[in-house]
Amino acid sequence: SNMKPESVSDCLDRVLSLAESDALYRGHNIIFEDTEEALYIFIDRDKVVQVLLNLIQNAFEAMTQPGDVHVRIKQENELAIIEIEDSGGGMSESELEKIFNPFYTTKENGTGLGLSICHKIAVDHGGSLEVKSSIGSGSIFSFKLPIVEM
Ligand code: ADP
Ligand code: MG
Repeated sequence: SNMKPESVSDCLDRVLSLAESDALYRGHNIIFEDTEEALYIFIDRDKVVQVLLNLIQNAFEAMTQPGDVHVRIKQENELAIIEIEDSGGGMSESELEKIFNPFYTTKENGTGLGLSICHKIAVDHGGSLEVKSSIGSGSIFSFKLPIVEM
């Protein structure tokens, strides 16, 4: 398998370098707050990078005006948490119930597959994908993965 111990910061560096040109093109800013040092997770790096790029792309698409996306690394007991916070329009309770369903999309050219795949990858890694959102105040996606001791 492709599972290896990886540093969370290194994964984020990769993600940010891949998302940079899209951010620039759309006029959005990614603000990376790397607060935890040397957190390691046992992951398929390409899959985890794919999840984070999906979440950042959704964040970009949620912001109709140029805005900020905050990316944070946190730790909660045995979990590393990568937060993606946007300043877009947010979602209602009834939307939140549907966003992880395959093919649920509110976009003209959306597939509705991004978040269902992200959720599956999180669960396959023994982690989770959670969201806090309300209409008018943006959204925070929390991608949680078990930490490994190095
Ligand atoms: P797609 O991006 O193709 O629509 P996703 O599975 O990535 O599919 O997302 C499903 C739906 O969830 C989106 O169409 C949108 O309605 C909602 N959504 C996802 N991320 C956000 C976000 N950051 N802010 C607001 N709505 C979001
Ligand atoms: Mg998407």
